[in-house]
Amino acid sequence: MINLQNELAGANSVAIAGHVRPDGDCVGSCMGLALYLRKYFPELQRTEVYLESIPESFHFLKDSDTIRDSSEASGAYDVVFVLDCGDRERLGDSAVLLDNAKKVVCIDHHISNKGFGEVQYIEPQASSTSELIYLILDEEKIDTPIAEALYMGIAHDTGVFQYSNCTRRTMEIAGLLMEKGIDFSGIVDRTFFQKTYIQNQILGRALLESMMLLDGKCIISAIRKKDMEFYGAGPKDLEGIVSQMRYTTGVEVAMFLYETSIQEYKVSLRSNNIVDVSKIASYFGGGGHVRAAGCTMQGNIHDVINNLTRHIEKQLEEAEEKQTLKG
Ligand code: 5GP
Ligand code: MN
Repeated sequence: MINLQNELAGANSVAIAGHVRPDGDCVGSCMGLALYLRKYFPELQRTEVYLESIPESFHFLKDSDTIRDSSEASGAYDVVFVLDCGDRERLGDSAVLLDNAKKVVCIDHHISNKGFGEVQYIEPQASSTSELIYLILDEEKIDTPIAEALYMGIAHDTGVFQYSNCTRRTMEIAGLLMEKGIDFSGIVDRTFFQKTYIQNQILGRALLESMMLLDGKCIISAIRKKDMEFYGAGPKDLEGIVSQMRYTTGVEVAMFLYETSIQEYKVSLRSNNIVDVSKIASYFGGGGHVRAAGCTMQGNIHDVINNLTRHIEKQLEEAEEKQTLKG
């Protein structure tokens, strides 16, 4: 646990940054903290948030229009908060902020986070970074806009309170946030479930073209760059596809890939009960959580899929062996 008062003693300027392709938890935690600091630490002359462009549906968050694009990140800040980001590379263009920062405070819940910065608050058991931000704030000082940001973050990273990372503490925090006058069902509806027509079309296409591997234990699908261009879809429009694939009966691992450039794929992995996908993603230079992880891989699509499948198969075999020994 960290104490904000102590960490900000004597500071005049703060920057807050999160990972590339910011998701609900990343944006929620960054904005929750920014709104709190701007309101309750008037001695801070500047509190800037640097992120890549955020989904339209997050624009309802108070002051989301003050978020600066990470490509503009520069300058020397007294304190740089790095939120929901497992390593320096995942900061993208915002990583330059670390070079001139007087102090870096890293707050995260990724199991793959090896720790960086002078101050670290990393709790892999936490549902979300937004949950950790809640814990460092004064409960009575959390107003409606701050609660909206944190509730959105917690709801997104728990798949709306469904994943195994969702604990009693998570639910209690969410319950307290619900009492702050937020439109909790509207937030979930509009930012999590609602999809644009294009997003639904591309989801349908990915499901239609999916394949089952490893005796039905693994489902995979890939989208090519030219198909994304056809639909006018960007990476933000692909969120949720891999989660839907995971809901296939009998499947342990879902794997979704999209082409980022020639012979380069962004990989999303999800598992249900057995496979530690964070281990696999980390092996290929990425990271994440036990049940949700990702990485970027080079090579032709067949090699990429084969390489990933081999690791999944190995873990499944190991799990089966353990089971046999027990039995
Ligand atoms: P997604 O599949 O939704 O992009 O990501 C799932 C989880 O894995 C998220 O927690 C995300 O932060 C993490 N993740 C995805 N891609 C990468 C990556 O390239 N590097 C690291 N370190 N983590 C990633
Ligand atoms: Mn997160």
